[in-house]
Amino acid sequence: MSDKIADLAARRAQKIRAKARKCPICRKPAVEASRPFCSERCRKIDLDHWRSEAYRVPVEEVPDADTVSPKAPEDG
Ligand SMILES: [Zn+2]
Repeated sequence: MSDKIADLAARRAQKIRAKARKCPICRKPAVEASRPFCSERCRKIDLDHWRSEAYRVPVEEVPDADTVSPKAPEDG
């Protein structure tokens, strides 16, 4: 393997990593202070999303043995 190719690959990876730093909320370039977001506002938006989603997830989802039946004979 050539060192040149390895160097090139490393540089390429660095470039991609730098490019990937975008705000997941509004896709603007992220800033160091609020990484990975572009601003504190977007960070808060993401946090709110995350929290509302966490609340939406049912704490316990136990399927009812009575309601869940493979076949319900309703003719008769
Ligand atoms: Zn943003």
